[in-house]
Order: sequence, then C-alpha cells, then structure tokens
Amino acid sequence: MLDNMDIDGTDGKPYVLIESGNVPVTRGSRFNSCNNFRNNTQAMPMNFSESTTGVVYDKRMRYHGNIHEDEHHPEDPSRISSIQRTISKAGCLEKLIPIKAREVTREEACLVHTIDYWNFVNKTAERSEAELAKLSGEFNSIYINSETAFCARLSCGGVIELCKAVINGTVTNGFANVRPPGHHAEFDEAMGFCFFNNVSVAAQCLKKYHNVEKIFIFDWDIHHGNGTQKAFYDDPNVTYCSMHRYENAHFYPGDKQASHTHVGGEGAKGRTINIPWPRAGMYDSDYIYAFNKVVMPIAFEFDPDIVIVSAGFDAAEGDPIGENHVSPVAYGHMTHMLKALAGGKLVLALEGGYNLESISKSALACVKVLLGEPPARLGPIIPSHDCIETIHQVIRVQSRYWSCLTPEHVDYLEDKPGKFVVPMADMLKLYRTRILYQEYKMVPVPLGTERLQRRFGDLACCSINICSKSILVFFVHDMADFRADTRATTNTINIPGSYMIDTVHQYIKTILDKDYGIIDVDVPQANSKIDNQDLRDLLVFLWDSYVESASPSRVILIGAGRGCKSLVDLINERDSLVMRKVVCSIMIPGQNPVPSVFKRLDLLNWYTEISFVILAENHSYWDKKPKKECGKCIRTQGLVNLTLQDMLANLHVNVFQYIQQKLDNCAVETSSKSR
Ligand SMILES: [Zn+2]
Repeated sequence: MLDNMDIDGTDGKPYVLIESGNVPVTRGSRFNSCNNFRNNTQAMPMNFSESTTGVVYDKRMRYHGNIHEDEHHPEDPSRISSIQRTISKAGCLEKLIPIKAREVTREEACLVHTIDYWNFVNKTAERSEAELAKLSGEFNSIYINSETAFCARLSCGGVIELCKAVINGTVTNGFANVRPPGHHAEFDEAMGFCFFNNVSVAAQCLKKYHNVEKIFIFDWDIHHGNGTQKAFYDDPNVTYCSMHRYENAHFYPGDKQASHTHVGGEGAKGRTINIPWPRAGMYDSDYIYAFNKVVMPIAFEFDPDIVIVSAGFDAAEGDPIGENHVSPVAYGHMTHMLKALAGGKLVLALEGGYNLESISKSALACVKVLLGEPPARLGPIIPSHDCIETIHQVIRVQSRYWSCLTPEHVDYLEDKPGKFVVPMADMLKLYRTRILYQEYKMVPVPLGTERLQRRFGDLACCSINICSKSILVFFVHDMADFRADTRATTNTINIPGSYMIDTVHQYIKTILDKDYGIIDVDVPQANSKIDNQDLRDLLVFLWDSYVESASPSRVILIGAGRGCKSLVDLINERDSLVMRKVVCSIMIPGQNPVPSVFKRLDLLNWYTEISFVILAENHSYWDKKPKKECGKCIRTQGLVNLTLQDMLANLHVNVFQYIQQKLDNCAVETSSKSR
C-alpha cells in the first residue's frame, strides 16, 4: 500500500503510512524537529498539544481516465499527481501524516446514494469499451472507463478516512488529494465529472458512525455543489455554504437551485447558503469580503463539530473554466479562517480545478496553512461592486435565520398586503407631481392606453408650453435615491436622519432656464415589476403623441440609469423619425450596461456623431473592446463608486456644455447650408 501513496511509484518517503484511528508509529521529520525544539527550550512550559496534518493520496486514483486517450479532458488524471509533486517539492510531504485511502463500502455510499445507483456505477467495470463510450455520452459531463468505479470508491473512501482521522484526533486537520471529484454527484446520478459525492458520504458517515452532530460544509469550487446541497437540504445539523459562479443559472450546473434564495427545506431554513457570483472575474478581495461578511459569522453562529471543504481550485487565477482570479494566498487565508472553527478540525477535499499549475500552487498554500504556517499578506481588500451587491442580497435573505447577519430582512412589499402599507414609490410619486407643478408648472402627461396609465400614471410630466418651443428635451431617468439612517437590528428607518436625493431637479431647472421644452420620465427601479418592454412602449407612445405633434425643430435626449436603455430602444424603434429630429443624446447609465443601437450603418454613423455616453472610469464597458453601437463613450476620471444621483450632480455642468456644443455645431451647419 505504501507504494500507492507515492507520486510516481518511487518508494522511500520519510513517513510511515497509518490507518486512521491508530496512533502513528513515527511522525516523520516534523515530530523529530519538534523534539529538537523541546530539547533546546527546556525552560518553556509545554502545555500545548501539537497540531498534525494528514494527507490522502493514492496514485491508483489516476486510473480513471478518458476512454478516448487522444482527447484531452480537463478532469485529467495528472491533477492529483501534480498537486502531490508540488507539495513534495516544497518539502511539506514529510511533515504530513499519510492517511490510507480505501474503497467506500456499499453501506457507506448508500447513506447518500440509492442502491440502484451504487450497483449501476460498480457494474460499469464489467462493460466493454464500446459500451462505456456510449454510456459516457448519455450523461451530463461524464467519461467512464473500466477503472472509474474503483477510483470513485477509492476517492470517496479516502475522504471518509481523513474525516475519521480528524474526528478521532489522529490528526488535527488534513487534505484529501483525491479524484474523481464528488460535489455534483446526485443521489442517483453521475454528472459534472463526479460519481460518488465524496464529501456528502463522508459527512453522513461522521453523523452515523462517529456521533458527530453538527457539520459545516464549505464549497469554494467555482461550480455550485448541487449534489451536496440536495443531500442535506432538509438537515438542520449540516450547514452547506457554497460560493460559486452563477450568472443567473447560465453557468454549470445551470440550475436556479444555486441562487441565494434557496436556503434549505422546512426545518432546515438557513442551513443552505448560496453566494452566487453574477459573473466571471471575481478576485481575492471578493472572496475575503464574503468570508468576513457571511461565511465566518454564520459558521461561528452554527458552531460546528467539524468543517469539511469541497476544495475545488477552479476559481483559481488561470483556470480555463472558472475564469476567476483567486490567488494561492487567498486560498491560504480562507483555510486559515476556517481553521478557527470546530477546535481546528478541518478537512479539505479536492473537487475541481483544471490548470495544473494553479491547482498545485493553491493546494500547496492550503497545506502550508494546515501545517501551521501563517498565510502571506494579501494587500488591501477592496471588493467589487458586484460582490458587495451579491453579499447584500445573501444577507437580506439569510438574516431571517442568522442573528449575526444584520440588518434584519425586510419583508418584500408583495408579502405585505393591506391598506396600511404605503409603497415608498407611491409617496415619491405624490411628492414629485406636487413639486414639479409648484416649482416648474409641469403637469402629468395623459397616457393613451389604460395599461400605460396604470403602470406609469404621473411618472411622465411635461412643461406646459412644449408646442411653442423650438428645442425639446426628452429626459428619462431613474427615481430619486433615499439615504436611510437604518436601525442596526430591525432595519427600520430613523426618519429624522433620513433624506432623499433628487438631482434631477437641478437638470429640470437648467432646461427650463434655457427656455427649452421638457418631457420628463421617472423610471421605476429595476426590481419593480415594470420591464424594459413596458418602458419602450411608454417612450414610443410619448414620442409619437407628444414629440411628433409638438414638432420642435430639435430634440435632445438625456438618459440616466435605466432610462438609457429605454431611450436607445426608442431610437431603434423609431429610427428615421428620431434621426431627423434628435441632435444630441447624452447617456449616463451609472452601473447599468451601455445600451447599443442596431448595427445599421446609417444609424451607427448618426449615433456616433450625436451621442455622449458618460461612464465612470471603472465601468465594466472599459474591460472589453469599444463597440461603435454603444455610441461615443467618454471615460470620466474620479467618478468611481458613486451612486447615479451623485454622478448626475457631478456631471451637471459637463452635460449642458455638451448640449451647447452640439447646438452650436447645428447652428453653424444650418447657416452654412443656407448661405
Ligand atoms: Zn468545479
């Protein structure tokens, strides 16, 4: 058996293989060096217990390979040998206590899987190559050869043995360098390179055979561990927390169950915690922020007996599938934080990870921390906007179940029926119609259809004399922003300390001072029930009924926030009419994506000519190649992380300078034409 622990089959490593539950015969050089340390420091009181780290590795797990040997598959057998070699080269292997892998038994596997599925996987060993090739194609992201069943049993048994060793105190913590991975495996189905759900089976074994009550499973693989979530969805004693790339269920495994709104079944609410990244490209700061805000507070409140990590390294920098940028140092920090739980009882079990260099360096960083090295410095932690927003949503949902998460969840408006509930949007609408009339003599525009009236009544207003103005501004913007002074635990608003910011008034005032006409549309926020289609219908109606009939000689479009998309939809919908009248289009999308006009040459040329799209220097637009259909984009310096209202306030002068520039150009063109 010793032979199977070797990376490439060479004997002679300075450690002795042990089986979990037995005290090791020798502990290798780490033990020796500690002896020396003790000899040299006799005066120091030695009342701490020594931490030890186990490792599971069995080179036979490499036998599971792609049946088409000439085709490279990312779940490559050399993943585990590469990790093992890196650990060895760094001089860590001799400090680790090898824990022997063995095959999972039927009884153990069937704590998670059905007996039919167990039989099915094991029978693959008896099938012909042709049958296996056909069978592989029938599954979702799976290949099978005649050794697959054996390797899957060994991988699963290896994780069980390491968990046992940790819970028995044979070792303090450990790393299971195993494959095939497990977290996608469902109770009755292989998928996503996984056969038996290693971590789930090990956790069930701890509960059933080792009197372990509470287990915290953390999954930092880039993919959601659908199999693990399902295995413990109704179990209040196992908390499953996964941080994964989600993209609204467009990323593998592509299931809405990976969203933050899935929190556990009846009796286990809050025991499933999903932290779903909305995109690729998340960095160390995002992971550490999530740990500080959600993972560790929940883990401490749960207070587990042991922590098991589904430690895929496919979120690592350089991974071709994950496309995130987590560094080995950050993996070390996450390991370090998790070590603080459960008296240090921590097991890391390999899942995915497909860049050999990345997974090896990442695994090494974790192993070093398990062995007791402090993780290296990370540098300043500055989370991305998408990270902060994701964490906010997670806290919003999970704060119902965890006291450590504040502010407390506010019931959704839809869940609060009754005449005593007044939506903030309605209060705002009342205020707005009153102020617009009092200050600017602007009035709500009647909207043609009942549907439009019901959805947008009072949200579109115009100055009373638009028919007599030669220049008309069509201003479409988000609603005002509230700054709420909330109470920490109840999330109710402290009224005297709260206020509203409505920079839009500044714009309306300037427009009227310049003696232009205005149609002003207040766009409800994105999470209201009004979608882009509704908004487009509204703007098309306003254009046809008011702009066309008022017949100004020039029209200026100003979009802010969500309003930009609806204005560009209007341009696409009424292209030739819009092109005839509009001389200037200013878009300030804030954090929203930059909307694009249809790729038609005349439209593209016209739009580039008349548009200014003003973006913060860290807007995601700048990450990719500029697109002509997005218009003339301008990168502003220093407007980072501002709310839309703050951006509008900052850009007020520039916006009207741009408009004046365009109007001056038009005047020059007209006079040169008339000459
Ligand atoms: Zn993965």
